[in-house]
Amino acid sequence: MTDTPASRTPARKPKASFTTLGNRQLSPATLMMGHGYDPVLSEGSLKPPIFLTSTFAFASAAEGKRFFEGITGKRPGGAEGLVYSRFNGPNQQILEGRLALWDGAEESLVFSSGMSAIATLLLAVCSKGDVIVHSGPLYAATEGFIAKTMARFGIGYVDFPAGATQPEIEAALAKGNELAASQGGKVALVYLESPANPTNALVDVEAVTAARDGLAQDAPIAIDNTFLGPLWQQPIRQGADIVVYSLTKYAGGHSDLVAGGLSGAKKFMDPIRMLRNTMGTICDPNTAWMLLRSLETIELRMTRAGENAAKVCAWLKAHPKVEGLGYLGDIADARQQDIFDRHCTGAGSTFSLFIKGGEAESFAFLDALKIAKLAVSLGGTETLASHPASMTHLSVPDARKAALGITDNLVRISIGIENADDLIADFEQALSAV
Ligand SMILES: *Cc1c(COP(=O)(O)O)cnc(C)c1O
Repeated sequence: MTDTPASRTPARKPKASFTTLGNRQLSPATLMMGHGYDPVLSEGSLKPPIFLTSTFAFASAAEGKRFFEGITGKRPGGAEGLVYSRFNGPNQQILEGRLALWDGAEESLVFSSGMSAIATLLLAVCSKGDVIVHSGPLYAATEGFIAKTMARFGIGYVDFPAGATQPEIEAALAKGNELAASQGGKVALVYLESPANPTNALVDVEAVTAARDGLAQDAPIAIDNTFLGPLWQQPIRQGADIVVYSLTKYAGGHSDLVAGGLSGAKKFMDPIRMLRNTMGTICDPNTAWMLLRSLETIELRMTRAGENAAKVCAWLKAHPKVEGLGYLGDIADARQQDIFDRHCTGAGSTFSLFIKGGEAESFAFLDALKIAKLAVSLGGTETLASHPASMTHLSVPDARKAALGITDNLVRISIGIENADDLIADFEQALSAV
């Protein structure tokens, strides 16, 4: 079979990817439109096609052998070419190249969900007897995976509150070392989430890094950056090793896909990639393509959502039916403000609204909203509102809910990119229904 008339032999070699222009370091916002893809390889198609294939043809048997040596780790340096879609594909590779740029990471890996990214990370770094030291609260499914699933494989955990000081973090690491020694393992991972869901409490990553360097030197620090990343917080700058994302949220940004990501140095990504190859937790080509589209507008979307949230929060704060806000643009605690100033460049668009009253008042408010939709999740173009105590955190025991500040009058809001004054009008009429 010869080439069809439509298929063109490239008139030039594909261009190598670049991130600089002369001496100029190009910003991720610019690179999102073209990095890692040359139309010459795909019939001149300006946008990457979606590669719907389960497997890739080798040019020769020797090439197939070489590619497999890379996949299996027999030869260092990773896969030289595409082999099979459980391992990787063109859409996912382009996406991984672009995602890494935002955090200044060497490499990224993309997954079928935030949770499959987290599960693959935990399973890749922990062995029997090991201990995970983590900040609290974590996303409920992450906390459950550590406390229940990982526990079944003999992996323990020690947690510390998100706002902990360096001595408190050191105490948690020392306790982790003790527990690990008693069960024949090591502290294998320090796992953080900042801001925490749904309290917005910030973790002092610089203090965690200093504590780790003194007490648990082999343990990488991973951090779930879903709420502020990648625009308003890049934790690798504060010493974190692995950045974790639910790409379902701001990165996807349109509430129409589920995906996850990990970013970090190649030495951390390599063993995780090997396990992802085995388990098949990679995201599919269609989702990867959707994410490439989403990343082209991520800076625009997040900037607008952040500006909207600032306007809405300024208005809400002054309302007589509002008891208070858990918003990073208006932090009451001096230590939390200090962490914010050192780590973050924006307050985000997801916050807690405390309504005067309890569940009945919160439900009346939620049921009266017209523009904002009543749904869990966050980071989409549309504004969402939910009631953590009776929804996402329903299964959390009452005592822990109280300790975390998840009260019956807490409504969580994720502001989208609508017109801010329209949103304020919606909140105004909904508060009048309370
Ligand atoms: C949503 C979320 C997750 C889980 O991501 P999925 O894409 O739903 O699997 C993890 N961490 C945080 C902070 C989240 O908000």
